[in-house]
Amino acid sequence: MLVATGARMSKKREPIETQLSSSVVFPSGIFALERDESWPYERFAYNVLDVGVHALHKMGLPESLTVDFACAPLHSSAWAINSSVYVKKDGDGDPLSFCISTPELTPALFYLFANTVAQDFFKNEVFRTYMDKPNRLRESIQKFANGANAAIRAYRTNGLGAAIRAGYDYLGLAIMDVEKTFDTYDLLTKQIAYHEVAHAYAGHVLRHPVPNAVDSRAYELIADLIGTVWFFEIMVYYTPDTPEYREFRGFSSYAECIFENALMVYRAQQANLVLAALAGAQREGGRVSLEGGLSHPPGLQRYMLQHMTLSNLVMSNFKDKLTEPQQEALEGDWRAKMEVLSQSGIMPSLDVFTGLDPRECDAVERAAELIESEKIPEVQNITSFLRSMRDNLEKLTNSRGE
Ligand SMILES: [Zn+2]
Repeated sequence: MLVATGARMSKKREPIETQLSSSVVFPSGIFALERDESWPYERFAYNVLDVGVHALHKMGLPESLTVDFACAPLHSSAWAINSSVYVKKDGDGDPLSFCISTPELTPALFYLFANTVAQDFFKNEVFRTYMDKPNRLRESIQKFANGANAAIRAYRTNGLGAAIRAGYDYLGLAIMDVEKTFDTYDLLTKQIAYHEVAHAYAGHVLRHPVPNAVDSRAYELIADLIGTVWFFEIMVYYTPDTPEYREFRGFSSYAECIFENALMVYRAQQANLVLAALAGAQREGGRVSLEGGLSHPPGLQRYMLQHMTLSNLVMSNFKDKLTEPQQEALEGDWRAKMEVLSQSGIMPSLDVFTGLDPRECDAVERAAELIESEKIPEVQNITSFLRSMRDNLEKLTNSRGE
């Protein structure tokens, strides 16, 4: 059974004393734009630093981070949907600071995605229509792709500022959309930011390059799982049980707040699964794909491990708080969305088979070994679950074959 670390009573984190400093490198041009056009960059940086300083401190690593939106990516374009992390070391090979970066245009593309596809996952009245017509999800994705392409075309001819403006103009985005999309963008980018910080926290970047592809995939899973635990802690576990918070959220009970926050994080993970499929499409020349690769595990396997970890955390911490209808509603909402993802072809059936293939479990088992040998506190009690995965998938495959 999974239990999150930290005491529920203390709603505030302990202050940290450090002489070190952190920085954010913005392309200067974004501040010549409007407030809503630079906001996605500022918020992304905040999401990295918000969890990063604490995490590095906890691991005894230097609390020094650079979030860099201006460095030219080595192996990808300025609009690739990805992010990365590396470490700067001193002459003795000890870590000095960590740098997390995204390609120049990417935070703006995350924002366009938040305003189109990701929003759909959070609006009941919108998503209900997708259940009858799953292709509507594809239309929403097409809208995002058109906005992104408008931005990329402008980037090629006129650079970053013009690109951001073109993407916003295409989708008709204005200042009030920041408020409407705040939570969605935040949920989306927190997961991405936490994953990158977790690579530093788990020691992956200190060991880079790791000896083989299995280790590299195992560290991806570990970063996913640590990120999931942090995401759960910040978005659900620390939900204040106070009248002020209930009033702020417009809910009448603590149980309702927990239910709504849990629903939100489940949906946010599903929205990120779509983003992963689109990142696959960027790499594969347009075909949506959740394939992994040499250094990354299959996308659906990654998603399912994160989802199972999250729902274990919710249930092991809050089963007694949530009513049975609320528990069923969480499960039902999740299933309905997976169904739409499958029927619309965003989650290709080939990827589903790969994601559930018992032969794809080498990295999962290696992740369990590394979590134990590296003593990573957040995910210690997930290891037996990881070790049982191959067996469970074999049973599932066999029972389907009967
Ligand atoms: Zn990664």
